[in-house]
Amino acid sequence: MSAQIINGNLLAQSIREDIAKRAAELTAQGEQPGLAVILVGDSAASMVYVMNKEKACNANGIYSVLEKYDADFTEAALLERIDALNNDPKIHGILVQLPLPAHIDERKVIEAINPEKDMDCFSVVNSGNLMVGHPVIRPCTPYGVMKMLESINYPLRGAHAVVVGASNIVGKPMAMLLLQAGATITICNSKTRDLAFHTRLADILIAATGRRNIITADMIKPGAVVIDVGVERDENGKLYSDVDFANAKEVAGYITPVPGGVGPMTITMLLVNTIEAAERRLRARQQQ
Ligand code: NAP
Repeated sequence: MSAQIINGNLLAQSIREDIAKRAAELTAQGEQPGLAVILVGDSAASMVYVMNKEKACNANGIYSVLEKYDADFTEAALLERIDALNNDPKIHGILVQLPLPAHIDERKVIEAINPEKDMDCFSVVNSGNLMVGHPVIRPCTPYGVMKMLESINYPLRGAHAVVVGASNIVGKPMAMLLLQAGATITICNSKTRDLAFHTRLADILIAATGRRNIITADMIKPGAVVIDVGVERDENGKLYSDVDFANAKEVAGYITPVPGGVGPMTITMLLVNTIEAAERRLRARQQQ
């Protein structure tokens, strides 16, 4: 039997309706949520991502600022811009589009963002809060995956989740959120021996490597939930992902497509993070 598709576009749409309502309520109380996105350099892919973010903000009542700088923009100048945005009351969230040009120290830039405005949850403070089980901000992609699992009412407690990929951006925070939800976790990386041995044990299999079709149908436990985070383009611009979708959907119980799966959820959770930051600011203002 073919797997049920978890439609990221539909789920994102329903969450965005709630976002628009909350944005309107915040605006009515003088706290319109605001997001600033900074792009350094002229990567076409990054440009598409930031334009999509700006469009999504505008469509949902979130004030948005896009700052675009040439590839030779200096680290000092970028840190100055972040300082200004940290102190701008109209801005609740700051996102610096990665990767940055090689002459800029990414870690320094991430840590320069006020943790309250760190919408990607990349800073040491926010990663630490996540690690100890008290996340204030959740990283957008893993947060979106958790919403997808919630949408199918999957019982996470006691389930075995295998996360393939261990980056700071996706794999590690994904594993933390699943662990906190009561799942038993295996994290795999490029050094893992016999990847298929681990993936076949997964009730929930999350693939986040950027390696084309690394997950084939024979690596999936029948009926498992398969979440395909990976998305890459080849030299001809053709989109591909981590999971061999056509064959995997004949084995999995639930599966996410690419496109139309995790991607739309990531942008949506960025909007949710911005709304939540504005709601925290409003509460703080009301308590003063
Ligand atoms: P990354 O920083 O390159 O990390 C890739 C991870 O995969 C690393 O931990 C690496 O292991 C692991 N890996 C590589 N080859 C492997 C193999 N053969 N077996 C097991 N693990 C392997 O990438 P990322 O930023 O986490 O992103 C991963 C993918 O998700 C990319 O395709 C990216 O475009 C996509 N993505 C999509 C969204 C979305 O919204 N849809 C959002 C974010 C990322 P090591 O640690 O050993 O190097």
